[in-house]
Amino acid sequence: MTDDSRQNRVREKEIETFNSHYSRLGAARRKLRRYFRSISWFIKMKLKPLPKRCFDLLLSLSAVVILSPILMLGFIFSRFSFYRIPRYGKGLLIYDELSFRIENGRGGDLVKKLHLTNLPILINVISGDMSFVGPRPMSPEDVNLLDRGMRRRHDVRPGLVSLWWIRRRANINYGTEIAVDLEYIDNQGLFSDIGILLRAIPAILLGDAVGSSDKELRILGIPIDNLTMEQAVDTILKWLSEPGAKQVCFVNADCANIAYKDNDYLKVLTGADLCLADGVGLKLAGKILSQDIAQNVNGTDMFPILCERLSGTHVKLFLLGARAEVVQGLVDWISRHHPGVQLAGYHHGYFDPNDENKVIESIRDSGAHLLLVAFGAPRQDVWINRRLGETGTRVAIGVGGLFDFYSGRLPRAPLWMREIGIEWLYRMLQEPGRLWKRYLIGNCVFLFRVLKEKLFPGRRRNA
Ligand code: UDP
Repeated sequence: MTDDSRQNRVREKEIETFNSHYSRLGAARRKLRRYFRSISWFIKMKLKPLPKRCFDLLLSLSAVVILSPILMLGFIFSRFSFYRIPRYGKGLLIYDELSFRIENGRGGDLVKKLHLTNLPILINVISGDMSFVGPRPMSPEDVNLLDRGMRRRHDVRPGLVSLWWIRRRANINYGTEIAVDLEYIDNQGLFSDIGILLRAIPAILLGDAVGSSDKELRILGIPIDNLTMEQAVDTILKWLSEPGAKQVCFVNADCANIAYKDNDYLKVLTGADLCLADGVGLKLAGKILSQDIAQNVNGTDMFPILCERLSGTHVKLFLLGARAEVVQGLVDWISRHHPGVQLAGYHHGYFDPNDENKVIESIRDSGAHLLLVAFGAPRQDVWINRRLGETGTRVAIGVGGLFDFYSGRLPRAPLWMREIGIEWLYRMLQEPGRLWKRYLIGNCVFLFRVLKEKLFPGRRRNA
């Protein structure tokens, strides 16, 4: 054998060893990867949902034990049967959602009065068909499986309480139901479930009155137009398309307190074309007075919806109020987020009273249809009442601190605070020196007055 061929054989041998070593290494690596993948699948699918499942079991079993004496009474004194509604569960499997159908007897009345007819749903939780928190259970006929996200929505068990349900009650309309469900699925876990359940407590107490039938209510002598956000926006848009000069006011607990003492302001609210119930205080007052408020309709939530609907229309907007840099900040926000909105003009709210006529002239000359006035209550509403006719606008709305929020001067409360109706607390903490009295004392005084109105309804004030 020549030297050359020996060298070649040695090299071939080396290459063979090298290849076999690396192919063994590659196979080991692939095996390891497969192994890690199955571990992470096991953690994600089996271990991660475990605390949530244990929590569901613990809570549902405790509820059954606590409520069983009432159920026993019901069972003894009346006849029950189960009512079954087919629903889509996890993985799009169909299960029967259970509730009681009470056939007769006085025990049944007690169960109905205590809203316990839905109690068998706890059996669904125990059996694993449902969870305490999860997307709303849907019937097969409700679900269009072609809708985007609809299948992912069923990657988890449906729940007794959903994030979307809480947001709807708090009137937080950010995104569709599916978008909110997917947001929940992406962030789900035991702690987020506990947070949602805690946030559900005030939502349950304040009640769901979306679509309430009483169209006009009276709270502390103030006539409230009991509309949902959508109805209020529709009404405003209708007025913007026809000649006239309409005034829209938002009434919160602080406004009601001011109007309680200030008869001129009460007269303005009484004469306004639309008085909308703003905030959790009014909702609570509605509950106390057995007049359910349809929805929390406040200017800050309404503004982006209005901008959306005004985009690309002929309606021109004029902004009046707040400091010059704040109103400028709002103008920038509108051009960034809603470039299709036509801005007729804007002016800060710290002008000399001698210049008021000039400001009104500039509004009129701008040809604006919609005027937003942010001087704070009651000044903005009294001002609109006095000068609306001269501005040539079709609708004017008093919007309080809205300019401060959208200009970025003041951050809005985090979502969870708005969901449970304590945005006022966040607002108070931003300017405690100026606002503690308005919120801490004012809220108590408001509730006291509402209770008084409940106990002595004949003594209502009228403007
Ligand atoms: N403001 C104004 N002119 C004034 C007083 C107040 O333009 O003479 C503005 C103030 O800068 C703020 C808005 O009115 O942007 C709302 O004030 P506040 O927060 O007191 O109103 P609320 O929302 O509490 O009714």
